Amino acid sequence: MITFEEFEANVRSLQKRIAAACRDAERSENEVSLLPVTKNHPLDAVEFAAQAGLSAVGENRVQEAGYKRDSYTGEMRWELIGHLQSNKAKQAVAIFDRVQSVDSLKILRRLDRYAGEAGKTLPILLQCNTGEDPNKYGFDVESMNEAVELALEAEALQLDGLMTIAPLDDDPVVAKAAFEKLRDLRDELSARFGCALKELSMGMTGDLEQAIAAGSTQIRVGTALYGARENVQA
Ligand SMILES: *Cc1c(COP(=O)(O)O)cnc(C)c1O
Repeated sequence: MITFEEFEANVRSLQKRIAAACRDAERSENEVSLLPVTKNHPLDAVEFAAQAGLSAVGENRVQEAGYKRDSYTGEMRWELIGHLQSNKAKQAVAIFDRVQSVDSLKILRRLDRYAGEAGKTLPILLQCNTGEDPNKYGFDVESMNEAVELALEAEALQLDGLMTIAPLDDDPVVAKAAFEKLRDLRDELSARFGCALKELSMGMTGDLEQAIAAGSTQIRVGTALYGARENVQA
């Protein structure tokens, strides 16, 4: 794990990258929020984020996030960005303040049921595999109508927007296409259902410039902030 000084330097260079990307896209920096991804890093990563004034972190596993949430005494919001197995939906509702990786109708129904039972409203994003990557989870573009319809009907869920992960590819054109597809899909669904779907969670260390150019409102960044991931016992 890197030191806090190294982390601060990484935050500063990342902020420069974000600022440059926003300038190129003629967008205001205020429109793009940063979600530090602390998965596979020790609890210090969460503390570093808090000290840098960041108020939420992204984790991809229920068990690891649960352990960190229990151990962390400070103020923090926890967002799930990894695939959720349906047998862990109840735990996820207890741990996470938002689930970005809702990728099936089954998970959507379960989260609604458990959030309802817990008496809370759970903010969610629908993950869409706009890059049609066979190695990625997410709804197909064709299934998104039905998913949005069900999410809007779900009494214990609050649909904030959409999320995607671009296919792993050295050609930035591939990521750009996946991000633009998510934005266009959002515009279409938003008009059809009369809902804002304001959040477009897209862009990571390797492709945040393409994502910001395509309208991202939240980038999820691990490596550029914390360096290479280690394994954390949880
Ligand atoms: C790990 C992960 C990230 C962060 O990736 P980096 O390339 O390390 O910035 C972002 N989003 C999701 C869904 C992830 O699983």
